[in-house]
Amino acid sequence: MPTETDHGPEKVRFARVTKRFGDHTVLDGLDLAVAPGERVTLIGPSGSGKTTILRLLMTLERVTDGVVHVDGEPYSHMPSGRAGGKLVPADERYLAPRRRRVGMVFQQFNLFPHMSVLANVMEAPRHVLGLDGDEAAARARDLLGLVGLAEKEDEHPTRLSGGQQQRVAIARALAMRPELLLLDEVTSALDPELVAEVLDVLRDVAAGTDITMLCVTHEMGFARDISHRILMFDEGRVLESDAPERLLDDPEHERTRAFLRTIR
Ligand code: ADP
Repeated sequence: MPTETDHGPEKVRFARVTKRFGDHTVLDGLDLAVAPGERVTLIGPSGSGKTTILRLLMTLERVTDGVVHVDGEPYSHMPSGRAGGKLVPADERYLAPRRRRVGMVFQQFNLFPHMSVLANVMEAPRHVLGLDGDEAAARARDLLGLVGLAEKEDEHPTRLSGGQQQRVAIARALAMRPELLLLDEVTSALDPELVAEVLDVLRDVAAGTDITMLCVTHEMGFARDISHRILMFDEGRVLESDAPERLLDDPEHERTRAFLRTIR
């Protein structure tokens, strides 16, 4: 794995990334760099492109222009093999091993409803990483312990609360030992009384690992606790970027202040 490249030892870099849906420009020449181990929270009005950034990193979307790099390697594109370093859109064979290093937890938990909790967490390590059953089960049990659901391993997801299902989804993402973890409004679909248990688990994860994390959330207390840096988005651009206490308590831009008032 390259450590030093033209782009330095960065975990993630968006280099002049533009994303359009039809004639709607969602990201407009975005430059963004995230260091290894850094935890960055993206905030901003709905429609400002935050989820699109995570979806590009999951290769659920493709850039319209520019390049996404992960670990210094072009991720949305691959080297053409010709001298001169021309980049061409990446194919599945190039992306699959790289995507494995990226985990995502969604607003909707997306668990496999017909499988037990344990089987949900074992699935990708077994079938994508090729772990044997015992190894995958041991890893899954460890993680179910971490999210406080050791005693639920035989249950089916439909019998769990939303908060418990989301904790299983967190364990499932961690089971792949991702180097980059993407959290997309992971508490937005939960009843208010279930939000805290999920955020507490994520606080533990953040405190106990050096996984690079990109997080989209409206939970500002949580963002303050776990983030090294908060980015305020507005219309597909970074309006300001600072340490949580600076950005949340003393923002530079009136638009940031106005946004923060709407969610408090
Ligand atoms: P945010 O996460 O900041 O709310 P998103 O990244 O979800 O913003 O969306 C940014 C804009 O892109 C929105 O206007 C949304 O409607 C649009 N958008 C996102 N995905 C698609 C898609 N698949 N097709 C068309 N428009 C999309």
